[in-house]
Order: sequence, then structure tokens, then C-alpha cells
Amino acid sequence: MVKETKFYDLLEVPPTASEAELKKAYRKKALRLHPDKGGDPELFKEVTHAYEVLSDSQKRSLYDARGEAGLSEQGGMGGMDPQDLFSQLFGGGGGFFGGPGGRGQQGGPRKTKDLVHRVGVTLEDLYKGKVTKLALTRNVICVKCKGKGGKDGAVKTCNNCSGRGVKITLRQMGPMIQQIQSPCDECSGTGEIINMRDRCQHCKGKKVISEKKPLEVHIDKGMKNGQTVTFRGESDQSPGAEPGDVIIVIEEKPHERFRRQENDLIVDVELDLLTALAGGQFAIRHLDDRVLIVTIVPGEVIKHGDLKVIAGQGMPSHRHHEPGDLYVKLSIKFPDHIDPAVIPHLENALPPRQPLESVPKGFATEEVVLAEADQRRRPDRGAYDEDMDEDHDEPRVQCANQ
Ligand SMILES: [Zn+2]
Ligand SMILES: [Zn+2]
Repeated sequence: MVKETKFYDLLEVPPTASEAELKKAYRKKALRLHPDKGGDPELFKEVTHAYEVLSDSQKRSLYDARGEAGLSEQGGMGGMDPQDLFSQLFGGGGGFFGGPGGRGQQGGPRKTKDLVHRVGVTLEDLYKGKVTKLALTRNVICVKCKGKGGKDGAVKTCNNCSGRGVKITLRQMGPMIQQIQSPCDECSGTGEIINMRDRCQHCKGKKVISEKKPLEVHIDKGMKNGQTVTFRGESDQSPGAEPGDVIIVIEEKPHERFRRQENDLIVDVELDLLTALAGGQFAIRHLDDRVLIVTIVPGEVIKHGDLKVIAGQGMPSHRHHEPGDLYVKLSIKFPDHIDPAVIPHLENALPPRQPLESVPKGFATEEVVLAEADQRRRPDRGAYDEDMDEDHDEPRVQCANQ
């Protein structure tokens, strides 16, 4: 259901991989590809970028829904230095790629961060479509000072950091010199100082104020898990920057009766034995206000586990609302007891009993009793699905055929 699998392929994991599996896969690949171990630096960067995206649940859902294109639309993201991420995860020093610096705002106008919000939607709402109202809290430019933070001329460049907002210290690490950036403490990283008296009273010199804005999210018929609704430029406002987007990610809630596979629906139906053998009717309550009545024609036999399909009763497709199909997985409920007096009727109606297997020569027969099995000690379930998630690394010793 994901749009692209490139990032998953780079890490050699399926798109269903858990966070732990991703981390494990990245660790394995990164250790192998690390330039320090003679790996390809470009591939290392690509794998690291893939992990950087997939390990961030917001970026991951964006990638799943819209692929790499969806990520680059985010703008303002210079991406992380692969060495930084590697050190963050596994510890150890930096310096392979010439140290930090220069990342972050690379080219183009600065944009504030996109705001990604996940909305849980029921299958009913995805079937019928719905408008959901959300209240968004965001920063807007202060109207009183028009984003200046104070009176004209009140805003001064911070002398401590020359307006850069960061201070840089150099640290000697063996043969390399590392640059360390930290926010300037005089101006708390803003690069500006505003005299207390001249500060805008409305925003207290912050240039922006927090505002609640209602958003109407149109959940279209047939939308899928991970699909997004974008409100362009509705994210935080900040002076001198373009506002980012608000991205609503549709999260399909699990349904108690239906499962969804693309535009098809799957429902489990339990039939009584008589209906299964002799025909009758059963009902399926649909996702809107309809109940589907299904007739089993006498003469047809429904078997346990049969899969049938009702055409056109699945989910509507997103754009054109063409319906998928409804698959019905049938199971049969057997009665617990049967009156021995009516058994002759069954013998009349059903195919004859299977004859007993003949006893081969040299075998003795022995009569035994069939008792109820202790449910807790059934050998056919449990006990084997313990944590299988152990590290199965390649063998340490390999054939050296030189
Ligand atoms: Zn400063
Ligand atoms: Zn203000």
C-alpha cells in the first residue's frame, strides 16, 4: 500500500517493518557500508537518508503516502549529516565528512516546518465520506508589531553572536578539529536583542502569537490509510519565512467486522450447519445504513472456509467511486449435540459413512476412548511463537577459496 519502496529496499526490509526492525537493518547495513571500513560513502549516505526518513514516524507516513516527492515538497530540510545520525545511534566520534556546518537552510526561501497530524478515521467514514473539523494551534505573525517584536529600531543585532544566533567553539580531537555549534545564550538563539521597555506588549517580543484555527478536513469516499490532505501554507508563520503546510494523514481505524484490501472488503460470516447444508438466508450489515440479505439456494452446500464474493459491494475507489468487491469468508457453526433419534434422517440425506480402513496383516486392533483435550495443554498451539527476533548474523567463518 506504500507508494514507493526505494527506501525500504535500501534497508532491505519490507514496508511493514517495525521501528526495531528498521533500526536493526540500518545498523547492519551502516556498519558494513561505513566509509571508515572501506564502504561506499555515497551508498552509505543514501542508506542513512532512507533510515532518517523511515525512523521518523511523520516522515515515514509522508513517504508511504507520497513517496520521495512528498518529502522534497517539505522544503527547508537540508537533511541530516549521515555521520551525525550514525554517531547518534551508535556513539563514537565524527569527522569523516568534514564535520557539521552548512546543513539546514540550503537554498530557496526559508520555510517553517510542515505540521503533520494523523487523524483516525473509521471504515464507515471512509466508505461514506465525511467532513471532520479540527482545531489547529499555530503561530501567526503578531498584528500589533507586524512581526518586528517591538517598536521600530527597538530590535538590535546581538553582539555576542553577531546576529547568527549560534556560537561556534572548536575542539581538538586527535588530529582533527571539530566545530561545535550551540545556541547563543545572550539572545537565546534568535540573533536579536530587544530592549525590555520597547518590546511589543501583545506578543511580548516574540513576533508571533499562538492562534487556534478551525480546519475542515474533507475525508473523501474511498480514501486509504496513509493518504494525506494538505493545507498549503497553514503551518506556523514566522517573520521572513514562508509558512509550511499542514498535512493531515488519514489513519484507517481497524474495523470490528470488515477488513479492507485496497478497494475490496472481507467479512467473516458464521453459518449454522442447517443453512450451510440445506440453504437459507443470512444478513451482512454494511458500512452505510444498508443490510445485505444473502440467499443460499437449497441444493448448494457451503463448506467450512469457503470464500465467496459479492460483486460491487466493496469500498468505493477514491477518485471515481467505482466499487470494489465484498469477499465473504464462511465458517460453519456445528451443533454441540444431536438427538440420536433423528440420525436415520441424516443417514438418508448425507453421503454414506467412510468405511473403516482395513487392518493390514500382522496388526492387532485396540479399542480406545476419545476424551476432551485440556485446552491449556494443546500441543498444536502456542509455545513455539516465542521471541524469534534473535540476531542471525552471517557465519563468522567463511570459506576462503583463494
Ligand atoms: Zn546572540
Ligand atoms: Zn507583537
